[in-house]
Amino acid sequence: KEKTLALIKPDGVSGNYTDGIKRVILESGFSILMETIVQLDEDKVATFYAEHSSRTFFSSLIKYMTSGPVLVMVLEKENAIAHWRGLIGPTDARKAKITHPHSIRAMCGLDSEQNCVHGSDSALSAQREMSFFFKEISSD
Ligand code: ATP
Repeated sequence: KEKTLALIKPDGVSGNYTDGIKRVILESGFSILMETIVQLDEDKVATFYAEHSSRTFFSSLIKYMTSGPVLVMVLEKENAIAHWRGLIGPTDARKAKITHPHSIRAMCGLDSEQNCVHGSDSALSAQREMSFFFKEISSD
């Protein structure tokens, strides 16, 4: 089985979407192996989203991601990375509402920044992101 990192972003947590999102996760056959609530600081977000450091939206992204606590989870199932990315839908929640109306971002996201959830996009980023939040994670 495969593991991936899922994150409910500050808008998802403060908007009370946590229980609904977890219900979708469990009904979709994922196991939640680990979970923790954390308040990220600027340094943590800058490291987590380092690939976006040169983008115009970077400072806004840092502000958004530090605006409140996030819920971090390790999910496991066959093909977990692609399946979770499919469930959350496209980055821009406005587009998701049109093209993927049943996706999580369509349900609880707002726009291309406040999109409520995150999912690792590859095996390499899943490994990096899981060890970023959970030091004890195994690599198998
Ligand atoms: P994530 O990495 O959070 O799962 P993603 O892979 O769908 O999202 P990325 O392109 O990696 O999208 O962007 C990372 C995050 O940066 C997005 O989830 C969103 O919060 C923010 N972001 C992306 N594009 C924009 C944009 N054009 N304007 C503002 N914020 C953006």
